[in-house]
Amino acid sequence: MTTAGHSAYRGRFAPSPTGPLHLGSLLAALTSWLEARHAGGSWLLRMEDIDPPREQAGAADAILHCLQQHGLRWDEAVLWQSLRGAAYDGALSELDARGHLFACACSRQQQGPLGECVRGCHQQGCREGDWRDTTPPRPRALRVSVPPSFTTRWHDTWQGPQHWPLGATLGNFVVRRKDGLYAYQLAVVVDDAAQAITDVVRGADLLDSTPRQHLLQQLLGHPTPRYAHLPVLTDAGGQKLSKQNLAPAIDPNTPERNLRAALAALGQTPPPVTANTANAILAFALEHWAPAAVPAQPAVAGPASF
Ligand code: GLU
Repeated sequence: MTTAGHSAYRGRFAPSPTGPLHLGSLLAALTSWLEARHAGGSWLLRMEDIDPPREQAGAADAILHCLQQHGLRWDEAVLWQSLRGAAYDGALSELDARGHLFACACSRQQQGPLGECVRGCHQQGCREGDWRDTTPPRPRALRVSVPPSFTTRWHDTWQGPQHWPLGATLGNFVVRRKDGLYAYQLAVVVDDAAQAITDVVRGADLLDSTPRQHLLQQLLGHPTPRYAHLPVLTDAGGQKLSKQNLAPAIDPNTPERNLRAALAALGQTPPPVTANTANAILAFALEHWAPAAVPAQPAVAGPASF
């Protein structure tokens, strides 16, 4: 496996516009910004708008506005995944040409435990002009055949040493859905490579996506970034803060309060009261950034008042 090695640090924040930012997503944005700025690197923004049925009108603009209100400014133009279909098709064609894809109409219940096609629809292969056809009555998903022996390891900044025998546990996975939409796993790998990302900072809820992304990077000949999975924030009932769980949106007009809450969850030194603008809080946080103080856990309780 190639790694990003010595290239200049390039990090990113990659929100899905399925709703406004909540405190958990601010944590990912802030930490990826702090890591990038601390390394003297670039911080990029990618809007992962590839799933229109799950998206909320206006959410992408609200996210950009909210980041700006928090003083989190990105370098380079925003990459919009909705404009990247040609790149994703190119990657699918490469995977197909190398024999790693199969097209399958089976529902989850009809698949084997490792995502095998048990009805044999994969035996029709996945030929040009064949897998591109998503028209009913037999819409098919495109899945990657995971070699049974495929295992991946990495050292995660906050989640520690990772060892994932993907081939024996999670198995084959979807890269283009039956409805024709590109899967997150495919798009994120294509775009992390296109944006030359060296370091991925995101929530630990995505930890089990990383082995799939490692495999795709290998199959497509892309470098593998370093990974740092942050603890996810939980609410008073122990539930992960997420848009699906209707985590409350952060108020873009109280950036100082939000940043202070995020820094507290990250175990950082509280900025002094004299730091009374978002920029002043960010400057203090950057100067005192202590990655080792971030709780090395999959989840931590968020502040009670959010
Ligand atoms: N779009 C994903 C999310 O909002 C994050 C993807 C990533 O950072 O790899 O949860």
